[in-house]
Amino acid sequence: MAKKQDVCSFCGRPMSSLFSGEDGAFICEECIETGHQMVQEMIAKRAKAGKTENLDLNNLPKPAEIKAFLDQYVIGQDEAKRFLSVAVYNHYKRLLQPTDDGVEIEKSNIIMVGSTGTGKTLLARTIAKMLKVPFTIVDATVLTEAGYVGEDVESMLVRLLQEADYDVAKTERGIIFVDEIDKIARKSDNPSITRDVSGEGVQQALLKLLEGSVVNVPPKGGRKHPEQEYIKVNTQNILFICGGAFDGIERKIAQRLNTQVVGFDASMATQHIDKKNLLQYIAPQDLKAFGLIPEIVGRLPILTYLQPLDRDALRNILVQPKNAITKQYQKLLKMDGVELVFDDEALDYIVDKAIEFKLGARGLRSLTETIMMDLMYEIPSDKSIKRFVVTRALAEEKLNKADIMRLRNAV
Ligand code: ADP
Repeated sequence: MAKKQDVCSFCGRPMSSLFSGEDGAFICEECIETGHQMVQEMIAKRAKAGKTENLDLNNLPKPAEIKAFLDQYVIGQDEAKRFLSVAVYNHYKRLLQPTDDGVEIEKSNIIMVGSTGTGKTLLARTIAKMLKVPFTIVDATVLTEAGYVGEDVESMLVRLLQEADYDVAKTERGIIFVDEIDKIARKSDNPSITRDVSGEGVQQALLKLLEGSVVNVPPKGGRKHPEQEYIKVNTQNILFICGGAFDGIERKIAQRLNTQVVGFDASMATQHIDKKNLLQYIAPQDLKAFGLIPEIVGRLPILTYLQPLDRDALRNILVQPKNAITKQYQKLLKMDGVELVFDDEALDYIVDKAIEFKLGARGLRSLTETIMMDLMYEIPSDKSIKRFVVTRALAEEKLNKADIMRLRNAV
């Protein structure tokens, strides 16, 4: 590639090592270096401008529009949807806020509490589809304190950086969904007796990110090591949305509600408490009692909950969402020229089984899959079938053949 006696087509100087293009043009090392610098500067400039690029409050979806979008995919959970929609909209506003009036709109990170399988991750994934900023979901169960086996808390920034195509400015205005945050809770709420050091260490590391700090991120992920080059990411404007099942938190809520009513007319105050759904009364102190450090709770000022899914909700989940499981099977068979119909009784039966075996919403998918498996195998080869109806009798037959206990382990 290198040619002697030639001159650089850019600076015109003769150089010993020149790199040639296809059409006889040459470039010297020095010009390559200068060009590289110029490109770097251009990228940096573009990234800076990118802070507000594309974001225009007039064109951004309003909270009601965000919620309407979520409604297409997620059944129920109105309160959580409203909270999320407002938080995302306010996040945009915060990124666009004028800085000359001395009022600073602060970040409002969110925490969503709800039993497993009620739609927390689905909400996060769905909102991601319409976001105008980079978004990533991280699972808190894999996070450990630096030096332990697992992922550093900062690894979540690597993911966000990747989502933003390594554009730091874009990363710094992104949103991170921390799933299963309850798994890093201290096991006891009395730190002086059984101090769960590693759990608390992870919380402290997460706290730093929530508070806003400049973090050295190894661009390729993995463990930090001294020779590595780091990218500096400021987390001040990154919005954190956390989700967790907080199994057993109802007990803490009940305890608090009971102690609260002491001194008042207890019978009056407790009368209105819906004991079947205590989660709706969740308050920040319950999260502390569960084992989140107070500083983290303080940095998650918006607390919302997800409703347990009742029979009607489960029934709706089967058919209503834009990509409902039944619609997916209908689409699959439509590609074979077959119209697939689910009888109402068949759908009721699937819901009954999901409730009976405590499979929740996740179980709806595995139950439907079990029913459909043989049919997906047989129908495409049978040219005579133009329409196929899944009846309750057929659903029963298929599920009786299957091992439902195995399904239970799978969800
Ligand atoms: P969580 O994160 O609360 O444990 P997920 O969001 O992962 O639960 O829900 C598991 C699956 O159950 C989803 O992928 C979806 O198919 C279904 N599902 C759960 N809740 C809902 C809901 N409210 N609306 C529609 N589908 C739901």
